[in-house]
Amino acid sequence: MSNKNIKNICVFASSSNFLSECFYEDAAELGKLIGENGYNIVYGGSTLGMMWACAEQVKLNGGKVYGVMPQRLVDMGCRTDNCDEFHLAVGMRDRKQKMDEISDAVIALAGGLGTLEELTEMIVQKQLGYNKKPVVILNTNGFYDKLLEFIDVIVEEKFANKIAKDLIYVAQTPQDAIDYINSYIEPEVTMSKHEIYSR
Ligand code: AMP
Repeated sequence: MSNKNIKNICVFASSSNFLSECFYEDAAELGKLIGENGYNIVYGGSTLGMMWACAEQVKLNGGKVYGVMPQRLVDMGCRTDNCDEFHLAVGMRDRKQKMDEISDAVIALAGGLGTLEELTEMIVQKQLGYNKKPVVILNTNGFYDKLLEFIDVIVEEKFANKIAKDLIYVAQTPQDAIDYINSYIEPEVTMSKHEIYSR
């Protein structure tokens, strides 16, 4: 059942067309579930890689597709004409802000440096209470295991409170990611000042 507080799900995902099939399959399956569960997608607005594999399935399954892209990438020919709404951004920072503004939940699929940057920014936003949205990592084929190990190191070495790990939900399948979003209840406080600054 859909979450009545969530309408638009922001998906960060690889722009690569050269990945193992399992990554596109999970992206497509997630897109199908986003549409079937009555949600829309906010994404990078491109025809590339996992991004489009996911967005196309949202559209085919009844959801709306909102693309956000800066001019430089439009000029490089990355834009798809298949968005229900297209937002032109000034640059990558402005784009992230727009994606944040118009979405109610975040799912990061496997990706490269662009995806990593988008994901970590959303975790920090949540840590500091700028938003209280669900932030989900879809761990296709264990792709994020090493990042999760590194976050363990960050906690063990006391660079962050272990509670910071609870800001992220690690889903092993697209269905798991959607189930989490369907049942997500926004917390009053994501991390208190004490939790942020104590160890
Ligand atoms: P990457 O993981 O490095 O492939 O970057 C993908 C992420 O960064 C996506 O979630 C997009 O929001 C953004 N991005 C990077 N390259 C592009 C592109 N060519 N077209 C659209 N978005 C892109």
